[in-house]
Amino acid sequence: MPDTAIAVLTRDLRVHDNPVLAAAAESARQVVPLFVHDAALAKTGFASAPRTRFLQECLADLDAGLRRRGAALVVREGDLVTEVGRLAEEVDAASVHIAADVSGFAARRERRLTEELGARRRPLTVHGAVHTVLAPGAATPQGNDHFAVFTPYHRRWAEIDHRPLAALPRRFSLPASLPKPSPPGEADTGSTMRGGESQARRRAHQWLQEHSDEYHYGQDRLAAEDGTSRLSPYLHFGCVSARELAAVAADRATVGAEAFVRQLAWRDFHHQVLAARPEAARRDYRPRGDEWRDDEHALRAWQEGRTGIPIVDAGMRQLLTEGWMHNRARLITGSFLTKTLYIDWRAGAVHFLRHLLDGDVANNQMNWQWVAGTGTDTRPNRVLNPLRQAERYDPDGTYVRRWIPELAVLDDPRELHQPWRLGTNMLNSLGYPAPIVDLDAARERFQQHRQRANRGTSSQ
Ligand SMILES: Cc1cc2nc3c(=O)[nH]c(=O)nc-3n(C[C@H](O)[C@H](O)[C@H](O)COP(=O)(O)OP(=O)(O)OC[C@H]3O[C@@H](n4cnc5c(N)ncnc54)[C@H](O)[C@@H]3O)c2cc1C
Repeated sequence: MPDTAIAVLTRDLRVHDNPVLAAAAESARQVVPLFVHDAALAKTGFASAPRTRFLQECLADLDAGLRRRGAALVVREGDLVTEVGRLAEEVDAASVHIAADVSGFAARRERRLTEELGARRRPLTVHGAVHTVLAPGAATPQGNDHFAVFTPYHRRWAEIDHRPLAALPRRFSLPASLPKPSPPGEADTGSTMRGGESQARRRAHQWLQEHSDEYHYGQDRLAAEDGTSRLSPYLHFGCVSARELAAVAADRATVGAEAFVRQLAWRDFHHQVLAARPEAARRDYRPRGDEWRDDEHALRAWQEGRTGIPIVDAGMRQLLTEGWMHNRARLITGSFLTKTLYIDWRAGAVHFLRHLLDGDVANNQMNWQWVAGTGTDTRPNRVLNPLRQAERYDPDGTYVRRWIPELAVLDDPRELHQPWRLGTNMLNSLGYPAPIVDLDAARERFQQHRQRANRGTSSQ
């Protein structure tokens, strides 16, 4: 057996069910688990302060997990390809392992790494189905390289055997030639969501045990604290494996847990779309001839949660405060930006990526496109009415009261969701703005835009 293998960890920051670590441990006597703070990633504008803090916590926790098993995390900074090449020489690595990923950035990086290590005669193994349950491309429809509609994808996803869980190596050891690094530092910010595999496993275990069976009731209730798992930041950084979560939830065999597994399939679905069409991170997946409005004032009001539509403002303020937003609120605020204000989905996606702890190119960009009707939604012109959504998903106003303290004095949910009904003087005294847009007129305008564009497309 060769002496040394390198496991390059990217956003698979865990020791449980980690095919990259497991394969490296099986292939050599010693394993160097490596994480590189990739300078190129910072230049893409993708790195954000909240996610950088969360990442730091993930690395510290991963290092602790590795130390309990006899190794430690080696952390480097710079160009990932250069750093891996350099370390491979330093430790005379017989093989290098890394997870496949779906963005254009990751694909280019993987190609460069293959060339770099090939030139050094050090084989690279790229593992699929590390970040997702099913590897992108593992399920394809006839004559196409990816599924463009979720329902048939989900059907196939459920039929296919998912990979077995990766064995957890009991002990690792670093090569003696490599000085044991000091643990990565982390700032204690006292934030509500701390990064790391220990937190992720605790949360997953507790939520699956206590709440997943009622998921189908609670998943759209905006005010329910445990209605959804809140595991998304942990899934984004791979502190918990989507494959393992799907297996544990499926074993519960309840309607709620099955609905939860379906959401994991949505996550896979967006990953396989982006893997096949990496340009969809920026370009319309299905162009609709939109001529988006340029309205800085409205965009800023939306970003700051001051549009005068309480359910929209509540979601936007949750994002700014928690670095997370309920999925139903993401749908409402996204529809409001793109279809009511008719502002480009890219402006919304950038803002979300700046603030979300779970900010993820596949899930964020493809969901934004879905909401804007330029993506995979089979009803691209539907406009969510925020007032109906508020009535349905925040019927007693708890969510709005939680995030908009100015309105918390209002007892009647109808007044809370439509405070303009109380008149300008009352709004002024509450210190809450009047709506920045007439909802009915905006819906008409959007539908006219799309009809005009459709006529334009069909006459071309
Ligand atoms: C405009 C918009 C932007 C979004 N941006 C992101 C993003 O950057 N990162 C992100 O992880 N999710 C994103 N989502 C999807 C979804 O809102 C979040 O995954 C979910 O709210 C996370 O909360 P949770 O962990 O409690 O989810 P749960 O309801 O507990 O679901 C479990 C997991 O399934 C996955 N999931 C759930 N819903 C979706 C979905 N619609 N699409 C893809 N995966 C899903 C997530 O990984 C989630 O953690 C976005 C949705 C919209 C409408």
